Amino acid sequence: MRIILLGAPGSGKGTQAKFLTDRYGIPLISMGEILRNIVQKKSDLCLKIKKFINFGRLLPDSLIIDIVENYINYNNYRNKFLLDGVPRTIGQAIAMKNKGILIDIILEFVLSDALIIERTVGRRIHVPSGRIYHTKFKPPKYNDLDDITGEQLVIRKDDEKNIVHKRLREYHKNIVSIIEFYSKRSYMNNALYFKIDANRNINDINLELVNIFSQRLR
Ligand code: ADP
Repeated sequence: MRIILLGAPGSGKGTQAKFLTDRYGIPLISMGEILRNIVQKKSDLCLKIKKFINFGRLLPDSLIIDIVENYINYNNYRNKFLLDGVPRTIGQAIAMKNKGILIDIILEFVLSDALIIERTVGRRIHVPSGRIYHTKFKPPKYNDLDDITGEQLVIRKDDEKNIVHKRLREYHKNIVSIIEFYSKRSYMNNALYFKIDANRNINDINLELVNIFSQRLR
């Protein structure tokens, strides 16, 4: 089962992706997480990538596709993955198809911009594990500490309000053609497309996904 998650930054993809990998053992490929780990390093390329990310800009399509393809091949994930954060442009969607990275299920998370701002402003993450918290909607047991390791949680640089606005503009600009691309079902190997109302609590969305998956896995 090859799944991709679409949705604006802050719409809740990462939270549900963690749930789905834990429940079904589908390997998670989170581009945000991969990139945030890369930028911990100090090489010239890593520092360049860091600048792009912190300013809320997208990285070049060719670089993103290289990372995804290498990651899938290296880990032998061709037939089973949950991809969060790619494609973000129509160029990436086309490149994936051309490279034979096929998709079975597309989940699009839909949430208004106002709620997205609220969610990103309160987001806290544990970088080593990718665990995601929210000060109001999913608070850690102890203030700003990871529940499992007790390590410090961090605020993502790109969750600053004006950067989120910029990322949202970029998202809206790109998503229309990506959705159009994936809705041509015959062209997309009959992939199934589900729109998820992301304006519900985390558990309710978990349940809807379990429903979708139990039908598909039967
Ligand atoms: P994305 O991966 O789409 O950028 P995240 O999964 O990181 O989004 O979620 C963004 C923020 O909103 C996080 O702080 C997360 O804890 C919180 N969140 C995620 N899903 C929900 C939800 N259904 N209700 C309330 N808050 C949520």
